[in-house]
Amino acid sequence: MLENDPLAAFWMPFTANRAYKATPRQLVAAKDMHYTASDGRQVLDGTAGLWCVNAGHCRAPIAAAIAKTAATLDFAPTFQLGHPTAFELASRVAALMPAGLDRVFFTNSGSESVDTALKIALAYQRARGQGGRTRFIGRERGYHGTGFGGTSVGGLVNNRRAFGALLPGVDHMRHTHDLARNAFTRGMPAHGTELAEDLERLVGLHGADTIAAVIVEPMAGSTGVLVPPAGYLERLRTICNTHGILLIFDEVISAYGRLGTATAAELFGVTPDIITMAKGLTNAAVPMGAVAVARGVHDAIVEGAPDGIEFFHGYTYSGHPLAAAAGLATLDLYKAEGLFERAASLSEYWSDAVHSLKGKRHVIDLRNIGLVAGIELEPRPGAPSKRATELFHAAFDSGLLVRATGDIIALSPPLIVEKPQIDEMFGKLADLLATID
Ligand code: PMP
Repeated sequence: MLENDPLAAFWMPFTANRAYKATPRQLVAAKDMHYTASDGRQVLDGTAGLWCVNAGHCRAPIAAAIAKTAATLDFAPTFQLGHPTAFELASRVAALMPAGLDRVFFTNSGSESVDTALKIALAYQRARGQGGRTRFIGRERGYHGTGFGGTSVGGLVNNRRAFGALLPGVDHMRHTHDLARNAFTRGMPAHGTELAEDLERLVGLHGADTIAAVIVEPMAGSTGVLVPPAGYLERLRTICNTHGILLIFDEVISAYGRLGTATAAELFGVTPDIITMAKGLTNAAVPMGAVAVARGVHDAIVEGAPDGIEFFHGYTYSGHPLAAAAGLATLDLYKAEGLFERAASLSEYWSDAVHSLKGKRHVIDLRNIGLVAGIELEPRPGAPSKRATELFHAAFDSGLLVRATGDIIALSPPLIVEKPQIDEMFGKLADLLATID
């Protein structure tokens, strides 16, 4: 039976449904840097939606490409058939990846990209005669989406708690968040490189010949903006090389300009074997994810297989025409407007703006890299209600969208953000921080 409440039926994802439905805030339109709320107010988008609308909202060339494709090729299977836009997009994605990662598998989301990457890792190890390598290593405070694989390698207690044992054979390294040693660092923290030795320890515990892959976010975004300590990713790479373990970077947030480069791998100068992506690939206008795979990993699976299908995996909508068209238009826009370079050139100004909050009430850490910021607030002792959640609501009501994750406020604006808008964001946050108990 349907009750009279028009909000009741939609069980909202990652939402406190009862609290939301008591005071709903809805978005009805968007353009460039702003959302329009249902009461008509303009809200400055400090989070590029959910870290995804990197070129700004409702960009005309993307909308036009989607409309044109919807009218000319609404759907085409990519199982044993194909269409030109998907092939073209795969080549364009490959060209943006670090050298060697030039085989691209399409998915519909970050979660699907992660589960696909994990399955590629298993298939690769088996194809090279290492079928005993079935373990995965993730990291505490890692977020890798909500598939069973991604939930298993993820390291957020709340995301795992309700779901029992999850995948067997998964272990976790410690996270790199270290307020005592690294608080208020700009860019990469100096301390914590040694935490990569957790991987050696897990190799010692389980045996290298049982481990298929390690997965980390090179910059962990949604769990509070954790920038890797200097040298940490290099050390993971070395340990993986030594032990025949694949290294997967989950770049669902960090790819497509967020850090001022096409990938975090490029910025940090460390090349993994597999990169997962989604979000910025289509500017979020149509859901799409992808997995970029090292040629050798791809070839071991494809060339090592007998005639027939080499990898029994895929999605009805892998390389969907609308998503592929949106992806091409998005990559064109990034290039035409130099948006990755723009993010890089704004990052110093951004860093100064972020760190202008130092000394403000409740602020115990500020972290930033590229066009990302994390503002960590002192937890309220014993109280369930979080200051960050209150700040999120207060900011929205005053015309600014930020993201609350635990005690952390995260910002990741579209890469078209202007300096006065950066000033507006941090000016508002400074004022609002003073109003929260
Ligand atoms: N991996 C990472 C690093 C992410 O940040 C996210 C989403 N925030 C995901 C995976 C999951 O992506 P999706 O929500 O598109 O499934």
